Amino acid sequence: MSGNDRPTVLVTGGAGYIGSHAVLALLDAGWPVVVIDNLSTGFRWAVDARATLVEGDIGDQALVGRLIAEHDIGAIMHFAGSIIVPESVEQPLKYYENNTVKSRALIESAVEGGVRHFIFSSTAATYGVPETVPVREDMPTVPINPYGWSKLMTERMLADAAFAYPVNYCALRYFNVAGADPQGRTGQSTKGATHLIKVAVEAATGKRAGVDIFGTDFATPDGTGVRDYIHVGDLAAAHVEALALLVARPDESHVMNCGYGRGFSVLEVLDSVDRVTNMRIERRLAPRRAGDPPALVADNNLILATLPWRPARADLDTIVADALAWERRLAERG
Ligand code: UDP
Repeated sequence: MSGNDRPTVLVTGGAGYIGSHAVLALLDAGWPVVVIDNLSTGFRWAVDARATLVEGDIGDQALVGRLIAEHDIGAIMHFAGSIIVPESVEQPLKYYENNTVKSRALIESAVEGGVRHFIFSSTAATYGVPETVPVREDMPTVPINPYGWSKLMTERMLADAAFAYPVNYCALRYFNVAGADPQGRTGQSTKGATHLIKVAVEAATGKRAGVDIFGTDFATPDGTGVRDYIHVGDLAAAHVEALALLVARPDESHVMNCGYGRGFSVLEVLDSVDRVTNMRIERRLAPRRAGDPPALVADNNLILATLPWRPARADLDTIVADALAWERRLAERG
């Protein structure tokens, strides 16, 4: 750990969608990786063979403590959690358990095991309905769903822990993550998808009949919800840069938006899917979904100023094309 500029990283949720991309980015950059995942929504095959995969629960402090000691873990990247906004409205206590209670246990394990650096998957849902978009990190955080609260509480715990103990952290507030590894090594694979681009490429490959448009009466230019879609490969790269910063400057912690600073409406996303597939995906007008804000777009000036990170695959059609290529691979596998 000490004196090593690339300590071993424990990645929670490393068999999942974003986690498996971060594992690839870490390994490709020369960081040793141990993954802990309970495989509830992740997949064993999604973890690159260069990493060590341990099947287990992040709330199991005996297990996590053992892993930290055995592998001399110097940093934790914490992706494990529940991620579906409408589900969090229906089952709030599941979200407070998986996202808040288990994060508390993991942070305690980190502190007790002497782990010095912690990167946390936070979310734009911490802002609720922003007063203005693009939204900046220092604007009010007033979530409008349990998912956002469950993540904001973890941010708070990290800030307090970093004050009290020798650990620094970076909370990355993700906007809407989409796409897949451009090399086709991993992608979004969990069944029962609810996220727009995934749902749309499933429709394009015949897995569903069409796409419901949840609300057409928002106060947005075309009435549909506006989001800042970020390529999962760019997001994974931001984690590696953030980790390098935490290691280089152990007295600093950061909370940063991860987005591109531009928004697309649901209709614009579906237009992109039509362009990329050369098809016309069926669109069905549907009521608003519980917990959905009208528009969420990142002000990304802070991350651009803080990290050497620069977006590489920000074009919406590129994001959709990568998501589609992965969906076709999944379809071939059956
Ligand atoms: N959305 C939609 N149809 C779908 C899925 C999502 O119209 O099948 C809309 C949703 O209401 C929101 C945007 O697409 O305006 C992004 O939703 P998603 O679930 O992808 O991410 P969220 O912003 O909720 O995290």
